[in-house]
Amino acid sequence: MPKTEHWQWYAEEFAPTERHEHAVEELLAAGHSRFQQYAILRTPVFGKMLVLDGDTQSSQGDERIYHETLVHPALAALEQPHEVLILGGGEGATLREVLRHPGVERCTMVDIDGEVVELCKRLLPEWGAGAWDDPRARVIIGDALRFLHEDHDRYDAIISDLTEPLPDSPSWPLFNGAVFADVKARLRDGGVYVLQASTAAFHNMALHVKMARTLRAYFAHVRSYFAHVPAFDTAWAFLACSDAVDAGALDGERIARYVGRLRGENYFYDDETHRRIFSLPLYLRRALAEKGEVFS
Ligand code: SAM
Repeated sequence: MPKTEHWQWYAEEFAPTERHEHAVEELLAAGHSRFQQYAILRTPVFGKMLVLDGDTQSSQGDERIYHETLVHPALAALEQPHEVLILGGGEGATLREVLRHPGVERCTMVDIDGEVVELCKRLLPEWGAGAWDDPRARVIIGDALRFLHEDHDRYDAIISDLTEPLPDSPSWPLFNGAVFADVKARLRDGGVYVLQASTAAFHNMALHVKMARTLRAYFAHVRSYFAHVPAFDTAWAFLACSDAVDAGALDGERIARYVGRLRGENYFYDDETHRRIFSLPLYLRRALAEKGEVFS
């Protein structure tokens, strides 16, 4: 491996004084779509990576940690997931994980950015792993907010795999009380809404806590959970919301049965991992219990 000074570097900035740098072996694509700045690059440690607006979205090395954690606790909480909706999900790996469930009859994915989706299909085919061509997949290029207003189906699970809700991001309009109420109305009885929900690390958990607080006004059970995703260099948080089921309280046998039904082998998620990801540190439990800012 050449000495580090010969590399070009991609620096992900978490804050003006915090960054994680990855050496770049190859830049596979870079540009601006109508909605965001994109780059697909290859690094020696993580393999290929999708970067949108300067934020790592997933890496070849550990995307299964992120995508299994996003999808499977929610589907395991359902008696029988038939219809699933993904908001965002660009790379196709969330679609892939949902379609590993043999009971799923249809999975609709709505992503706003056709250019990024096409790039992912072409340059990151390992993420979709055939899911794009599964007859149960319905891929719609469009604004998820508009889709929620115009489509009238109901879903067993709705999975939010959107970019971070920062004010200049196309995902920003999907994080407010009115949308959470719309999402809830689109769930079937007993349904689950799960979100990738920013970070759970001590120094930047405010956004996660704000999301959790807001969602508690709409759902009886709102459970935070997190996994360390090495490419993100932090503890990545998720929220599982439902009126019917507390995803954090599923018993081990149920999860083992659920995992046993999936096509192919899991990399990260099983009953033991489930217990670990739903077991939160004290600082986070305290922050979640505090009153404070909510999304209006
Ligand atoms: N793992 C990711 C992360 O760390 O933030 C999220 C993955 S995925 C690439 C995010 C997707 O959300 C992108 O493909 C983007 O185009 C999509 N997106 C953002 N705003 C959207 C909107 N309003 N409607 C539908 N898709 C949207």
